[in-house]
Amino acid sequence: MFDLHTHSNASDGTDSPAELINKAHAVGLAGIALTDHDTLHGWTEAMDHLRPGMSLILGSEISCQTTDGISVHMLGLLFDAQNQPLLDTLAKTRENRIGRMERIVARLNEAGYEITMQDVLAQLSDDGTLGRPHLADALIAKKFVASREEAFEKLLHNDSKFYIPHYSPTPEEVIKLIKGAGGVAIIAHPFASLRGRIISTESFAGMAEAGLDGVEVSHRDHTLEQRALLSDVAKQYDIVQTGASDYHGNGKLNLLGEFTTSQQDFERLEARADQRRVVRA
Ligand code: AMP
Ligand code: ZN
Ligand code: FE
Ligand code: FE
Repeated sequence: MFDLHTHSNASDGTDSPAELINKAHAVGLAGIALTDHDTLHGWTEAMDHLRPGMSLILGSEISCQTTDGISVHMLGLLFDAQNQPLLDTLAKTRENRIGRMERIVARLNEAGYEITMQDVLAQLSDDGTLGRPHLADALIAKKFVASREEAFEKLLHNDSKFYIPHYSPTPEEVIKLIKGAGGVAIIAHPFASLRGRIISTESFAGMAEAGLDGVEVSHRDHTLEQRALLSDVAKQYDIVQTGASDYHGNGKLNLLGEFTTSQQDFERLEARADQRRVVRA
């Protein structure tokens, strides 16, 4: 089985890529995709620590925003790491995340939360992608909240007065970038309504047109009804259905391998990339 959506401390997970590989091996996964937010930063370390017999699928969870302001996450897997348009887009998003964080911190300061940008950056490993979970960790260190969950529930959720989005291209643009780089595009947790507004089933038409390859159906943040609906959508557009954990180490309750993708479905996805890019030790 394959877990096609995991995070390391190259973004907002808490395990290093090496620890993540070791844990995936320990739970008996045939392969994992490393999908840190808007970065390829953990790829080298993951490759260097790959265990014999395991497959490593290198990727990224790319931030998108629809024209009506809905946040969407697109998993790009098996793309060319040298593709400049894709790398430029990720760099622009990462850069924008810093100014956005400064503005969220300023809003928290106005409301009496004494926290600095240095406090937030202290929670981020070198060259990692900065995100709200690092702010949550800084708020925990300052004893304003006890957990990331509490930080998001009380202060950092998408409808909070402290929330500010960062630059993101549209889902269609990101799908085209991933496809242009030879990879496969899978929309992550499309109906995870806990995080804020979600897209409609109708919006799959434009994404399918842009080349969408897969949809993450089995994910902890989807109800059984939502999974059934997404499964129908996948059949309608002939796209692959995946399952994945969205593991973040200690940063979330999600357990590595709690949802998975079969070998057969993974092979259907892999066949849609322009080259064989799965790494094997
Ligand atoms: P950002 O990328 O800065 O907008 O932050 C979004 C990230 O926060 C997502 O990748 C989620 O994994 C994480 N996140 C969202 N809600 C929660 C939560 N309730 N607890 C822990 N992490 C969360
Ligand atoms: Zn995350
Ligand atoms: Fe996500
Ligand atoms: Fe994720």
